[in-house]
Amino acid sequence: MEETHITGGCFCGAVRYEASGVARNLRYCYCESCRRAAGSPAVAWGTFDRNGFRVTQGTLAEFRSSAHVTRGFCAACGSCLTYCHEARSGEIDVTLATLDEPARLAPQMHVWVADKLPWVRIEDGLPQYAATALQGTELKR
Ligand SMILES: [Zn+2]
Ligand SMILES: [Zn+2]
Repeated sequence: MEETHITGGCFCGAVRYEASGVARNLRYCYCESCRRAAGSPAVAWGTFDRNGFRVTQGTLAEFRSSAHVTRGFCAACGSCLTYCHEARSGEIDVTLATLDEPARLAPQMHVWVADKLPWVRIEDGLPQYAATALQGTELKR
């Protein structure tokens, strides 16, 4: 894994962020929370160290989407930007699709496939997990 420095922001430009460190756990998530938060069948995430991340412009609006999870978004345009879980307080997840150079970090796996909508077809050959990669065993493809 290599060190990286990324910048990104929301659709309208009000919220800008940057992160540096090792980007890891690059994944598509199909869980219901991500689906509803983004209005999308899947959300692509990457994990960074919390102390390597900062908002460089505007304010991250926050929404507590479950007991231990806070999601950050732009209050003006609604772009989903971040995900923080209390059990991983040293980390922050960033939506890969809001990076300024989104082609640089490609998802490496699919998680929460158990919640995937039936009309989404995964055909890229990447590993698939019923829940998280940490909790679950890889599903047969
Ligand atoms: Zn915005
Ligand atoms: Zn999710």
